[in-house]
Amino acid sequence: MQFDAELLLLAMAPVFLACIGWEAWHLKRTRPGAQLYSWRDTLCNTALALMHQAADKLAWLAIIPVYTFFYDHYRITTWPPSWGSFVVLFVAQDLLYYVFHRCSHRVRWLWAAHVVHHSSERMNFSTAFRQSLMYPVAGMWLFWIPLAVLGFAPKVIVAIVLINLGFQFFVHTQAIGKLGWLEYVFNTPSIHRVHHARNDRYIDRNYAGVLVIWDRLFGSYVEEDLGEAPVYGIVESLHTYNPLKATFHEWASLAADFASVSGWRNKLRALFAPPAWAADYHARRAAGSSVPRAGSTEDSSEAIRAKQDHTAAFQTPRRP
Ligand SMILES: [Zn+2]
Ligand SMILES: [Zn+2]
Repeated sequence: MQFDAELLLLAMAPVFLACIGWEAWHLKRTRPGAQLYSWRDTLCNTALALMHQAADKLAWLAIIPVYTFFYDHYRITTWPPSWGSFVVLFVAQDLLYYVFHRCSHRVRWLWAAHVVHHSSERMNFSTAFRQSLMYPVAGMWLFWIPLAVLGFAPKVIVAIVLINLGFQFFVHTQAIGKLGWLEYVFNTPSIHRVHHARNDRYIDRNYAGVLVIWDRLFGSYVEEDLGEAPVYGIVESLHTYNPLKATFHEWASLAADFASVSGWRNKLRALFAPPAWAADYHARRAAGSSVPRAGSTEDSSEAIRAKQDHTAAFQTPRRP
């Protein structure tokens, strides 16, 4: 079945490529000069997709036995094949995807893999191809274990994860505006444009996979303001079309920070604190200051300014 699941995405590949071709043609016609596509960016995105596919194919070999263990020993029920079972599986996996995705923006270990998806400063269908081969190392698969405990077979878990991923391709576009009532229920291009933006009001918002109801329920929803265009990319810009550099730069930064800070608390922060901790640390180092500490009074004015610049861009705005 894992082979069948691979076929599922391969079967969609012609649709993906047709959408990219249509969007590139459409945007060139309707927004001449905007340069929303570039060959180098699209080729980098495609290389990242192929690297991710190859890594996933290997990773499933190790991960499926883990799901099988939980399914065989700890499942609380067994679901008969039916539309009702599919709906439960779909909703449960989409909720778990929301949790995974939110954690991926708030825990640096997970962000080190997910940053690949966000490091392009363009937003088009090919941006969906930007995935990290390091997801299995980061532990994305851990988030689907509850599905095995809920009583869904490993092959079904693999299939629903890929269906969710396949759907998300279609929300990576600037060619489609707001979609009326669909914006209340589903992740849409408008909602996902906000997610890829680094504007203060947009950053770390709209984590939806397929259903946006989770963002609305858990307070992470922000609507795209037509008066404020999204600025795409990450706060510490990468400026590379090298897929290997895009894949490993944050891991290298994480390892360097882990090695250079002193004390286990700081080492744990280097691994698991929100990405803002790293931006803060880098700003202080650039300003010649030391490791950030709670209640520290050693801030130089440069460090404070740099810290404010970085953390303002990273931090989640307070909810009213
Ligand atoms: Zn994200
Ligand atoms: Zn995306």
